[in-house]
Formats: sequence, structure tokens, C-alpha cells
Amino acid sequence: MRVSQAASGHTTSGLFTVVASGRQAGSRPTVVQSYTVPLRQLSTTFKQITASGARILSVTAASQDLPAPAAPVAAPSAPPKKATSKPSKKAVTSSAPKKKPHANVPVNTYKPKTPFMGTVTENYSLLTDGAIGRVQHITFDLAGGEPQLEYVEGQSIGIIPEGNDANGKPHKLRLYSIASTRHGDSYNDSTVSLCVRQLEYKNEAGEQIYGVCSSYLCDIEPGTKVKITGPVGKEMLLPEDEDANIIMLATGTGIAPMRTYLRRMFESKERKANGWSFKGKAWLFMGAPKTANLLYDDDFNNYLKEYPDNFRYTKAISREEQNSKGGRMYIQDRVSEHADEIFAMIENPKTHVYMCGLRGMEPGIDEAMSAAAAAKGLDWKELRPQLKKADRWHVETY
Ligand SMILES: Cc1cc2nc3c(=O)[nH]c(=O)nc-3n(C[C@H](O)[C@H](O)[C@H](O)COP(=O)(O)OP(=O)(O)OC[C@H]3O[C@@H](n4cnc5c(N)ncnc54)[C@H](O)[C@@H]3O)c2cc1C
Repeated sequence: MRVSQAASGHTTSGLFTVVASGRQAGSRPTVVQSYTVPLRQLSTTFKQITASGARILSVTAASQDLPAPAAPVAAPSAPPKKATSKPSKKAVTSSAPKKKPHANVPVNTYKPKTPFMGTVTENYSLLTDGAIGRVQHITFDLAGGEPQLEYVEGQSIGIIPEGNDANGKPHKLRLYSIASTRHGDSYNDSTVSLCVRQLEYKNEAGEQIYGVCSSYLCDIEPGTKVKITGPVGKEMLLPEDEDANIIMLATGTGIAPMRTYLRRMFESKERKANGWSFKGKAWLFMGAPKTANLLYDDDFNNYLKEYPDNFRYTKAISREEQNSKGGRMYIQDRVSEHADEIFAMIENPKTHVYMCGLRGMEPGIDEAMSAAAAAKGLDWKELRPQLKKADRWHVETY
């Protein structure tokens, strides 16, 4: 949730119950003791427990959040205390009323029955020679809307393609992640851009099929009026905190929301327009089949040059690079390679993770995160819902 921690009085980390056993001084019998700690203190707790000679028996997710600052962790060598399998009532209640998250974010300004008619201003390929498929960057002019179609980074819009479906009914809308910041690519607060891949596949009869809406968009000429709905979506919004850390996992057109975040963070004209001076760490993991399929790569390389302390860019090019097992290099392989650093970042409650792209990327990422968590004695199946609940794990796959 983007309500600031200061405002809510809550940490945004989940809680974990660590159960440890050890022999107390004076050869008293083995004592089993539990400690309920926020995620960011887990590694310190582990160190304290193991340094005292005790053994960690289990780590499980507790069910509530603690207010900041987090409750002190009792060292295992401290006098035995009553086990605290749950945080105290005081620890889970907040005196500050919780704000409704993202209450001011616009949604459904334009609905399918009364869409906004946007005008295409540009439509160009994002791919270079030798790339697979077709991916276009398409911009629409939003001027003249009453009300104005406003949106924020991380939202999507709907596009209703021209024509009728197989049943003779008007085509339904398709959603597309917005690829521009709220100020638009021309910084006049009056355009929206998309990054669209033309869907193509062979059906069971072996015929080449092209997607209806993605083909309509990829072929569209500047000047064409297009039915636009929305904006929609609050899952992928950025935190307002300028010190937040943002880990981005993208494949293919899943780069669209990440481009908006990175422009908001690092594009000089955009920074002037938004007055938001990002000071945290942004780490983009981008998966593509070939180098020629990398999207917005030049922009990201420029950000690397300008903001080397704030931006990191890790690519997985599946058909050109090999993973450690000699197979194709996918984004989850890069996540595995950097698992320690990623988990160290996740332990910081200011870190948010965003994942976007084809749905098929999720199992691989889950597997990589499970292995990384297990190496730290954690259970990803329990940790992920905690991060989600703390509004720090954001997924939009399609
Ligand atoms: C929140 C959200 C954000 C999105 N953002 C983007 C984005 O930024 N960029 C982008 O390009 N897309 C994005 N999409 C996907 C987009 O909405 C469309 O689904 C996509 O463009 C295909 O639509 P279409 O009309 O071209 O295909 P359609 O003509 O609707 O065909 C799609 C249908 O084809 C069939 N099909 C698809 N692949 C195969 C296959 N391999 N084998 C057999 N059948 C198949 C399935 O039945 C599928 O439902 C997003 C989707 C969501 C939900």
C-alpha cells in the first residue's frame, strides 16, 4: 500500500515466528523458545540464535503487522520468556486511522458504452533487425476529453477494436498496460502510450492466426480515432516514497509499466515535470528471446550511465545466453543468480517487487524465489502472501 509508513504508523513488513531450541547455561534442559519478528529482522535474529548455539526449528509467517519501530528481538541467551507465538494486541493495533489505499487514483473515467475517442499520433516498431515477431510503441492524443482521461503509472487502458466478432457482435475491449508516465511521452499531460505485441500463433489446423486487437493496434495509422476505456488497475502502482527500492521482473511487453516507473525515476524532463526525486534503488530484470527483442533498451542504458548508483539492469536473453545448467537463460535464472541480493533487498520494508508479462513467467519466478527462500530457511509459500499483504509484491500477468 502506498499510504506512507509515517502516516499509518505501521511497518509494511510481515511478521515471522522463529522457533529455536537450545541448552541454557548451567546445563538446564533444552528450552524451546519462539520470537515474533518482522521480515527485516529475520537475518539478525537468525544470527543471534545461531551465535548463542541454539538451533532454529522452524520459521513460519505470523498473521499481523507490527508498528514501527519493530519490537526488539529477544536474544536466545536472554532469560527464558513466555513464548510469543502471536504479536501482542498493542503491537497490531494502530492509533492512526488507515487511509483507503490509492483513493485518489482515477479509475473507469471512460466505460465501454461511452469510450473516449483518442487519436493515434505515432506508431513505430520497438524491435531491431533479426527480432522475433512485432512489437509497436503507439501513442494516442487524449486532448479534448471531458472529463480529461487521466491516469497514473502502473495502470492500464482498454482498447475496443473496430468491427464485429464471429457472432456479429462488436468486439470487446482488450486491456493494455500504459507505457507512458501520467505526463505522457511529450510531457503535456495529454497523451497515453502503449507497447503492443501482435499476437500470432498457429491453430490446431496449422493455420496462422493473428490476434484481433493487437493486429488492429500494430497496423494502426496516425490520425485514426480509437475507442479507449479506463484507466483501470491499482495493483501495479508505485509507492510514493522517494526512498523506496523497486525490483522489476519483466518479460516482453511486461516492460510497459516498468518503462513508466523508470521514466518517472530517471528521465530528466519527466523528473522536472513530476517533482519526484527518486533516491532509492531500481533493479530491472528483463527477459527477451533475442537482443533485437529488447524493448526501450537504449533508454535504460542511458539511465544506467546517468544514475549508476540508483539503477541496475540485468537482462536474460533466452536464445543467446545459457544458464548455469547449459539451458536457455530465462529471467528466473537471473533471479536465482542474484537470489541473495534480492532477498537482502526484500528484507528492507521499503522494497517493492513488480512482475509483469505473460502468465507463463510466474511458475519460473516462483520456483526461483522458493529456492532462494529455502536457502535462507524461509518458506516462499508463506512469505509471498505476507509481502502481498504488505502491498510489496505486485503481479500483473496476462
Ligand atoms: C492487465 C493486462 C495488461 C495487458 N497489457 C498488455 C500490453 O502491455 N501489451 C500487449 O501486447 N498485451 C497486453 N495484454 C494482452 C492484451 O489484452 C490482449 O490479450 C492481447 O493483445 C491479445 O489480444 P488480441 O485481440 O490480439 O487477441 P485475440 O484475437 O483476442 O486472441 C486471443 C485468443 O487467442 C487464443 N490464443 C492465444 N494464443 C494462443 C496459442 N498460442 N494457441 C492457441 N490459441 C491461442 C486464446 O483463445 C486467446 O484468448 C494485457 C492484458 C491484460 C489483462
